[in-house]
Amino acid sequence: MVEMCAYPAFHTPLLDPDVVSFFTRALSQNQLAQSYLFLDGGAADTLGFSRALAKALFCDAGGCDQCETCYKIEHDIHPDVHVLSPEGPSGYLIDQAREVIAQAAQAPATAQQKLFIITDAHMLLGAPANALLKTVEEPPEHTHFIFLAAQAAHVLPTLVSRSQIVPFSAPSYTFLQDYLVGKTGASQAEAAIALKTFQSQQKALRFLSTPRLKEARTEFLRTLFLLETSSWYELLVKAETVSDLVTTCARELLEPAQEDEIDEAFFSAKQIKERDAAKKRAEQAHVHIVASALLSIGESFFSDVLLAKTGASSVTNQDVQSELQLYAQKTQTDQVLSATHLIAEARKNLASRVNPQLVFEALLLGLKENICQK
Ligand SMILES: [Zn+2]
Repeated sequence: MVEMCAYPAFHTPLLDPDVVSFFTRALSQNQLAQSYLFLDGGAADTLGFSRALAKALFCDAGGCDQCETCYKIEHDIHPDVHVLSPEGPSGYLIDQAREVIAQAAQAPATAQQKLFIITDAHMLLGAPANALLKTVEEPPEHTHFIFLAAQAAHVLPTLVSRSQIVPFSAPSYTFLQDYLVGKTGASQAEAAIALKTFQSQQKALRFLSTPRLKEARTEFLRTLFLLETSSWYELLVKAETVSDLVTTCARELLEPAQEDEIDEAFFSAKQIKERDAAKKRAEQAHVHIVASALLSIGESFFSDVLLAKTGASSVTNQDVQSELQLYAQKTQTDQVLSATHLIAEARKNLASRVNPQLVFEALLLGLKENICQK
């Protein structure tokens, strides 16, 4: 009989206990399926669990969170654990599918197995999906796939039928709020704002543990409140400030990880080059994460304005509620709706790898133009 604590990677109260015992059994009996479909129901942290599973699988201590293996998995630079997200504006690209097929065909670099974590599996469609299906159906012996989606109905049926489905239940809202307060020292109100803004425990945790990110939120909200009175030039400067903050936040998010740098002597020149390239990718990925967090804050701002217009008191950004009421009074509903379209547009641009400064310039100028049309 295997104890629940066999895998330290699973030691977090946030993980679904049923899923934990299911995978504890599968791992200890060496019976991992070749393809899983994790369903988060819109709330559970399935990506976090996928990384925990990778640590349990690859770390000698079952996921100690202190060794080189765990570090690399946590930062998505482990050569045998590939975390993918759609790189095209409308989904995964054929090149991404081809790269997965090529990587799956190679023997594992350091471990006995290879793991591919395909996030947003609902965006794996058409030619890329077809290309990948054969490998998913008959994967090389050492290869495992984990597809992440909110619901099975969103995913291609051919993919669903080839995978073992694992539905996750999300912890309750109050439980999450208490957990965030305990973990970060934030107030209940701050934890509530973070959870409501980001709709994800992982993103809320990152936000609350990064002071600079909280600063960026304050700065961005202030910019939105002052859209009407700011000059065009001031907004261009603001866009630069915001994008500088994005870069600084991204670096700070990466820094704690880089402090416990592994000794260079362990690496060959080729590995150092690969690691530097991986670091660069990680930096770009973090810039994207922070910029996208600011856009979520923008979304919550405008949906609060709509709520305030209806007289509702349950806004997300409780800390600026009275300013929101004032803003709502002088803003038309259709202006708020246009503003949300502009943010959606900014998100699309960010996904197509437009430089964040240009994204924020276009967004702020667009919002100003929109707000001045009366
Ligand atoms: Zn470890």
